[in-house]
Amino acid sequence: MYDFLEQSMRLMHRAAEAGGIDPDVVELLSGPARVVAFRIPLRMDDGSFRVFDAYRVRYNDALGPTRDGTRVSKDLDLGEVKALALIMSVKHAAGLIPAGGGKGGIKADPAELSRGESERLYRGFIRYLQPSGPDYDVPGADVGTDLQCMAWMLDEYEQITGRHAPAAVNDKPAIIGGTLGGYEATGRGVFDVFRDAADHMGMEIEGARVAIQGFGQVGSVAARQFFDAGCRVIAVSDVRGGVYDRNGIDIPALLEHSQQTGSVVDLPGTRAVTNAKLLETDCDVLVPAALQGVITEDNAPRIHPRLLVEAANGPTTVEADDILLDNGVTVVPDVLANAGSVHLCQMERTQGLSDDYWDLDTIERLRRERLLAGYRAALNTAARFELDSARMGAWINALKRMEEAIKTRGWC
Ligand code: NAD
Repeated sequence: MYDFLEQSMRLMHRAAEAGGIDPDVVELLSGPARVVAFRIPLRMDDGSFRVFDAYRVRYNDALGPTRDGTRVSKDLDLGEVKALALIMSVKHAAGLIPAGGGKGGIKADPAELSRGESERLYRGFIRYLQPSGPDYDVPGADVGTDLQCMAWMLDEYEQITGRHAPAAVNDKPAIIGGTLGGYEATGRGVFDVFRDAADHMGMEIEGARVAIQGFGQVGSVAARQFFDAGCRVIAVSDVRGGVYDRNGIDIPALLEHSQQTGSVVDLPGTRAVTNAKLLETDCDVLVPAALQGVITEDNAPRIHPRLLVEAANGPTTVEADDILLDNGVTVVPDVLANAGSVHLCQMERTQGLSDDYWDLDTIERLRRERLLAGYRAALNTAARFELDSARMGAWINALKRMEEAIKTRGWC
């Protein structure tokens, strides 16, 4: 049975050992600094009453205020939120971002909620969490939360405190203090690190065969980028199933089809593929962009792209990662591949705090530069430690930065 928290802990301990991190620091990082569990009461549209479990985890704030997503899913549990908060700490630290890792969530199925119920639930999240503002902990979006959800959350915070504080909530619309380019940042970043890795490997981008699991915010934006660059996107899936075309799927047509029907399935001119089979598709580039724990020791021996670009958080188990490395698959890990949004959130914060809003070209340029700097730093560290793994390089870089901050503060 897949355990996201246990997997993330094992990764942390493995990197700490490889990087020679002080055992006291490792002990401190073996659990989150603070965990808040609370319940949100909600009157439903039909008059019935429900209570939703919610969490906020601040993993470690040695490098700066904790920040990041709010996941809303019917299967959410606290272990998952803790694992994601640890991954966010690593993502910020590996990307040289002065922030700690945070994550929150609500155990609810967003698809079952009306718009009114959603608004009351997300506003309730802020009322019952009682966040303390931009210098303490900043919630952002994740699976199940979008621009509108974050707008409600920011508005609730500002109504409660009685002052404008755009930097108190991330991933909000630009009109109320968000940043341009936020929605596309992760998907575009996935493509940017792919291109860098492909250049490094001598892989031809034009015509490269790409399979993408997940066609949400990240997967759909990334798919468009691959398509526009001349790659052949041969398979795409979402929660309802997938489509396959060995000659390459028309991604603009798929975007329209998915907007009209709510899913990628049944795109005319394609044949059906299951999510399980998509991962095993014969392709050059595989992009898991949906869920954690989808590549395991069971299916890893049958997964053999030249390049695996992890757009989702935690898609590959530790055991599967070893198998892929043995089989010569180059892996760009989640903490690097999907870090576009954390760089955007850093810029969103800077703009919100200074009330000075930047143009899209500036934001895109900084995002790309910062993202690729983190990726190359991870590759350098991996080479220095003679590890054939960008994942280990990124985690070692992150742990070393956290270690230095923790020791400088005198925490251990
Ligand atoms: P989303 O909710 O917009 O899209 C998720 C996609 O995955 C949808 O197409 C959905 O149908 C599909 N999906 C859900 N369950 C599935 C299943 N069981 N099998 C196959 N497909 C399934 O979410 P998103 O924002 O695109 O995030 C996707 C992943 O990327 C998550 O792991 C998230 O943590 C990670 N991520 C997102 C961002 C961001 O900026 N949105 C940033 C970093 C990491």
